[in-house]
Amino acid sequence: MHGIANLSVRELRGVGPKLAAKLADYGVHRVEDLLFHLPLRYQDRTRITPIAAARDGGDVVIEGEVRAADIVFGRRRSLVARIQDGSGTLTLRFFHFSAAQKNNLTPGTRLRCFGQVRRGSSGLEMYHPEYRQVLAEDTPVAETLTPIYPTTEGIGQNQWRNLCGQALRHLEREPVSELLPPSAAHPYALGRALQFLHAPPPDASLELLREGRHPAQLRLALEELVAHNLSLHRLRERQQRGGAPALAPKPELLDAFTDSLPFAPTQAQSRVLGEIATDLAKPRPMMRLVQGDVGSGKTLVAAGAALQAIGNGFQVAIMAPTEILAEQHWRTFSQWFEPLGITMEWLSGRSKGNKRASALARMASGAASLVVGTHALFQDDVTFARLGLVIVDEQHRFGVHQRLSLTQKTAPELGRAHQLVMTATPIPRTLSMVAYADLDCSVIDELPPGRTAVTTVLIDSSRRQAVVDRVAAACSEGRQAYWVCTLIEESDALQAQAAEATAAELRLALPQLAIGLIHGRLKPAEKESVMAAFKRGELALLVATTVIEVGVDVPNASLMIVENPERLGLAQLHQLRGRVGRGAQASHCVLLYQTPLSANGRQRLAVLRESSDGFYIAERDLELRGPGEVLGTRQTGLMAFRIAELPTHDHLLDEVQSISDSIRESFPELAEPLIQRWTGTGQQFAKV
Ligand code: ADP
Ligand code: MG
Repeated sequence: MHGIANLSVRELRGVGPKLAAKLADYGVHRVEDLLFHLPLRYQDRTRITPIAAARDGGDVVIEGEVRAADIVFGRRRSLVARIQDGSGTLTLRFFHFSAAQKNNLTPGTRLRCFGQVRRGSSGLEMYHPEYRQVLAEDTPVAETLTPIYPTTEGIGQNQWRNLCGQALRHLEREPVSELLPPSAAHPYALGRALQFLHAPPPDASLELLREGRHPAQLRLALEELVAHNLSLHRLRERQQRGGAPALAPKPELLDAFTDSLPFAPTQAQSRVLGEIATDLAKPRPMMRLVQGDVGSGKTLVAAGAALQAIGNGFQVAIMAPTEILAEQHWRTFSQWFEPLGITMEWLSGRSKGNKRASALARMASGAASLVVGTHALFQDDVTFARLGLVIVDEQHRFGVHQRLSLTQKTAPELGRAHQLVMTATPIPRTLSMVAYADLDCSVIDELPPGRTAVTTVLIDSSRRQAVVDRVAAACSEGRQAYWVCTLIEESDALQAQAAEATAAELRLALPQLAIGLIHGRLKPAEKESVMAAFKRGELALLVATTVIEVGVDVPNASLMIVENPERLGLAQLHQLRGRVGRGAQASHCVLLYQTPLSANGRQRLAVLRESSDGFYIAERDLELRGPGEVLGTRQTGLMAFRIAELPTHDHLLDEVQSISDSIRESFPELAEPLIQRWTGTGQQFAKV
């Protein structure tokens, strides 16, 4: 095959080795790659807008005559020119300018300006517009909408436009290869869609383009989502190729375990346990995601899976994203498994020296059947003699590749370990179709009996004193409460400081109460003793950072105050709130928000007040904040698409699924080039 698929960008005019190297940083090697470097947005320079018709905030071209140009000495020295067309006047304002620039703006000069119009003190203004002198009335305007390309450094917009323009001229001569199967016929042929998006005609709807809903965008978004889906499936196939130990169900062991519990599994737990048991018995690696709302009892399901592996003589690793959550699992599993004679080991970033060495040795020799830990389990020197199952809690905080690396830490002749991923952040169906196409999915859609609904109220921070009084009243009746300080900052230290300050303030305001403090900076032993004191009821109020989001279970705690809830995602707030409502008495959650609250912020918090359904909350969060935030994967770049956007393109996902299925069944040769076209170049195209 030849044509633009194989034509190097070096063949284009103006591309030397230096520019070629810069383009390579964007994953652009061939002329075809340029065609798939798609604009982020557009400007309309195809028509001249009468000044009177220009709207605040719009990017427009205007043309008029300079009436006056002066240097104004205000707070900042600026060059101000007034221009007029037949319909009105507009002020151009420059904070950086040269003497020559001022001199050229003599009254009577005709200018054509492009920029954003804003309403300022002196009527309509443009700051630092692009402009040039117009000599003849018929100086042409742009023939197409002007694309703005994603770029960082080293390559300017004009350069991208020039290069993509050249690529389009190649496209006119030799078509780009169509990689979707014939059944996926679309009103927009691929070449036409590319042509349209790089150079939309003047009558193209800017609004549709801005919203990502133009048919040409839909055509490419569809293909990109198919490519993404195929790449996840490829990952899954590669995973499964090596095989895995077939782990027969161990009903006696499972019964012995469930008989030892003070409660019976819910129907949903039993169903999911059954799905897992079937997967594990197969000689290929299970790749299953278990979703369940906060408190739905995922840990029990994890334990059942672990028993099946251990009962077959294999080891199990359980990994959690935070030390506190790992510790919680450690306590739970010690309580459950030690009576069954199962040997356990602990590994975290804090395991050092001899302790760490002996833990590693017991994992490598197979002496430890169950290992609980944090990210430390990813480290290279961690190996297992017979790892049969990896359980990852809170999946979305780990990257796909991290997750997969763990399953390879076993003796090679055993194949790969089975994989069970658990998330308490319910993932909307559409999102999981995109982000987790490589995993089978189970849902625990039932809470254990006896939970009481939590009443959620929104109170603004000016009424903080009333909230403090409410805490006092609740605690005087023997109830316990959480006071959660939120700070979005990455820094543990800042979070700890803020929580310390709040604790000090509350101790002053409520001297009659025993108040504890817990944050990520405390030593594990300190955290444990604070938590234990709260559990025993010796502390009435626990001031905490969001570390308590996971791993805290105190049924007598029935009031939670969350400060600055507007800073957190809804799913996270829902998790936090799940810490109360675990006992018999009515529980309350007070969202103490900072004023002024944006309309979006108000809407988001209202969702929480109105619903206790984690899935509904997650759907709304997705709408209001976008998928990167909901998945917490902005850092890992998982959801960085060039053109596809969720939830805008949700409605394409069923079609994506069926095209992907059809390619895998009937046109497997299309998969690799599609993946290459859309994801082969890495994540440089993340929308900025
Ligand atoms: P999550 O799904 O949030 O991880 P956990 O596994 O921590 O939930 O369970 C929450 C609480 O519910 C724990 O105290 C656990 O012991 C309890 N629990 C789990 N399953 C049941 C059940 N079937 N009946 C009653 N309580 C249960
Ligand atoms: Mg849990």
